[in-house]
Amino acid sequence: IVKYRDVHKSFGDTKVLKGINLDIHPAEKIAVIGPSGSGKTTIIRMLMTLEEPTSGDIIVDGTNLWKMEKNDKMVKANEKHLREVRGDIGMVFQHFNLFPHMTILENCMSAPIHVKKENKNEVRERAIQMLERVGLGDKLENYPSQLSGGQKQRVAMARALVMRPKIMLFDEVTSALDPELVGEVLEVIRDIAKNDDMAMVLVTHEMDFALDIADKVLFLDEGVIAEQGTASEVIEHSSNERLQSFLHRFR
Ligand code: ATP
Repeated sequence: IVKYRDVHKSFGDTKVLKGINLDIHPAEKIAVIGPSGSGKTTIIRMLMTLEEPTSGDIIVDGTNLWKMEKNDKMVKANEKHLREVRGDIGMVFQHFNLFPHMTILENCMSAPIHVKKENKNEVRERAIQMLERVGLGDKLENYPSQLSGGQKQRVAMARALVMRPKIMLFDEVTSALDPELVGEVLEVIRDIAKNDDMAMVLVTHEMDFALDIADKVLFLDEGVIAEQGTASEVIEHSSNERLQSFLHRFR
């Protein structure tokens, strides 16, 4: 459903991505690992159209998200189509990004009602179901400030799931959490990975977790995909020296 073709990205003079080629197939679970600053977040932000590539193509369901203008500047392709594409992609961030003035339930209902113009009662039912699924069925009327970090992150996941995306993007969703809260969030992702047929792209430093759930692992290093393969090939059996020394820090 997604193709990156020779995607480059620079911020000023800094080349962050140097020719990314990547296919995301339906239902595929991909883990992206790599050192800090290697461009992992940038790859997924571009798919959410939060960041434009400097050159190259990002194609979702057959349509290019960006087009090059005559002055070599990339601009968003057709706005209407982009809205549809964005509706198919859910993202969970490192820092939850919940609306503080809304209850947990309202947080989960907002996008389908306002962005997708769905029926409020149907959305409410789905939101309650998803919140129950992430173990927060008893917190519907609470506000984000009344929850722990792990609970907030589970709300963020329920909120993304209510949109019924075809692809879910997870950007280091456990790295802002206290260590004792990491497990409950990974458990929810594991449940989604094992039971849902949506594609998932996870930027993560949790190697054992990647081994457990990922169909494919990408090692990003200095803006290129330096290694890719099954989780076992990349995490357990690669002879790439930079990958070895990176893994050494996490295992
Ligand atoms: P981390 O694991 O630390 O989150 P990452 O692999 O996700 O790192 P990115 O966040 O994609 O890396 O950032 C890649 C590089 O791009 C970094 O050097 C970062 O400083 C730079 N960068 C990212 N966003 C911007 C921006 N908006 N303006 C300028 N530089 C940026």
